Amino acid sequence: MSRSPYSAPDSRGHFGMFGGKFIPETLIKNAADLEQEYRQAQNDPVFRETLGRLLRDYVGRPTPLYHAERLSRMAGGAAIYLKREDLCHTGAHKINNALGQVLLARRMGKQRVIAETGAGQHGVATATVCALFDMQCIVYMGEEDIRRQAPNVARMKLLGAEVRPVTSGSRTLKDATSEAIRDWMNNPEDTFYIIGSVVGMHPYPMIVRDFQAVIGKETRTQIMEHAGRLPDVITACVGGGSNAIGMFYEFLEDVPALELVGVEAAGEGLEGKHAASLTKGEPGILHGAMTRLLQTEDGQVLEAHSISAGLDYPGVGPEHCYLQETGLVSYTSANDREALDALKTLAETEGIICALESAHAVHYAVRRAATMTPDSILVVNLSGRGDKDMGTIIESFGL
Ligand SMILES: *Cc1c(COP(=O)(O)O)cnc(C)c1O
Repeated sequence: MSRSPYSAPDSRGHFGMFGGKFIPETLIKNAADLEQEYRQAQNDPVFRETLGRLLRDYVGRPTPLYHAERLSRMAGGAAIYLKREDLCHTGAHKINNALGQVLLARRMGKQRVIAETGAGQHGVATATVCALFDMQCIVYMGEEDIRRQAPNVARMKLLGAEVRPVTSGSRTLKDATSEAIRDWMNNPEDTFYIIGSVVGMHPYPMIVRDFQAVIGKETRTQIMEHAGRLPDVITACVGGGSNAIGMFYEFLEDVPALELVGVEAAGEGLEGKHAASLTKGEPGILHGAMTRLLQTEDGQVLEAHSISAGLDYPGVGPEHCYLQETGLVSYTSANDREALDALKTLAETEGIICALESAHAVHYAVRRAATMTPDSILVVNLSGRGDKDMGTIIESFGL
């Protein structure tokens, strides 16, 4: 029996009970204009050709799908393949989306771009595409993240962006996002908000997913070329969830013939401070969408914690909440220590220093591969490289 094709969100931006547009009156028009422009762009061959050309010549796509033989042998089981998003220009998958959105901004005639950033990867990607197209760029970043991610702050400045420190709340990604939304509300005419993950109000989760879906599309073609068949398991780390959905979206209709697994940050442990909103969160509204949230019993948003700033967010993309509920994707977690150890293992076996975010998925991949037969295939999305994390790595390993 075949399932009906996967189709989400609905016309109002709902993924089951999740998603939607929980926004003040003053943002309704912004969101509607953006959706209309996006739908036109999708059907415009010139837009698609321009994006495709830049993804190839500027970002460096397609990124390789690499058979990590030494890592596979060490794990002892399935063949592990790495989708090398770490080789994208600027060092992570974020640029796939930033490039798509800056092209939308240009179509809409907007000259001023704003963005939020956590680890700084989305800020760098946005500052990069703004330099490329000579646009004004303002990046909101929590003071705590500015401290943790100094090299990325310097990169943004060098690229000509203004980095605005956010001093409210936990001074991390959640607060930077709130500040960016406020700016967008106050400057609806000339400003385009480039959001960095599949979060926020409709149509953002859909737009960001579609721009990141290139990851899964390439992976399907590449694994068919390498192995002549689809993988058994595909895994990716989940912060807001953009690299994961970008990988999974292409394969949703292949479930249950293959298994999709998202890996959240368990931080110091699921009973302590963590960022596992799907595993431990409850439904609630954050940044304009119904999602799963880390919150107190009376609905106060809790501070998330992860050693990787890119996973340090108390909410998660609404589509992941829906995929969890429908059982199409399962979600697990890896803690700070496990991520650090996986990062070291990958460096020593393959000569690849990945981002701490990606290392959460690598941890799961190694553990899972060991339970699988040698003729099975596991693909892990290596969302970024570890240059930005060297400070944390040096501290943690006493290097
Ligand atoms: C930002 C980031 C993430 C987390 O964001 P998602 O939207 O969940 O993909 C993961 N890995 C890297 C390298 C990042 O920069």
